[in-house]
Amino acid sequence: MPDTSLPGERLAVPTDRSGSQPEERPLRPALIRGWRRRCPACGGGPMLSGYLTVRDACPACHEDLHHHRADDGPAYLTILIVGHLMAPVILWAFVTFRPDPLILASVFSVGTVALSLWLLPRLKGAFVALQWAKRMHGFDEAAGSGAARGGAAGS
Ligand SMILES: [Zn+2]
Repeated sequence: MPDTSLPGERLAVPTDRSGSQPEERPLRPALIRGWRRRCPACGGGPMLSGYLTVRDACPACHEDLHHHRADDGPAYLTILIVGHLMAPVILWAFVTFRPDPLILASVFSVGTVALSLWLLPRLKGAFVALQWAKRMHGFDEAAGSGAARGGAAGS
């Protein structure tokens, strides 16, 4: 659904039963910070330890990050993007250059793996940032930090 709101305009959020809706978190800066693999709250601390492991909390601002449920989302997006980029390019390369099949396979294998490895942690950062900004799962402190996790059905 396209966002038709004006810049800076606050979206009408239906009030929940308590009437004290927590302040909305800005989505775009959070996504950019997540793409840079930084904490979505402060942008300073690193979100990931190692290649894909999300830290329990930001080392800079101590924002809890363990609530994330990125699961297979980043991998799905990576496959979607890499597939849609590489499929037309391999056709174009084949039609234009008619390379030796072994060369074509080698170049595109390396290119596909490299692009996937480059995209995956960035998309995971953006995914976690999206969940943080939208207060999904346990990122909504108003729902109660401990109670929200205990009530969720295990999957
Ligand atoms: Zn932080």
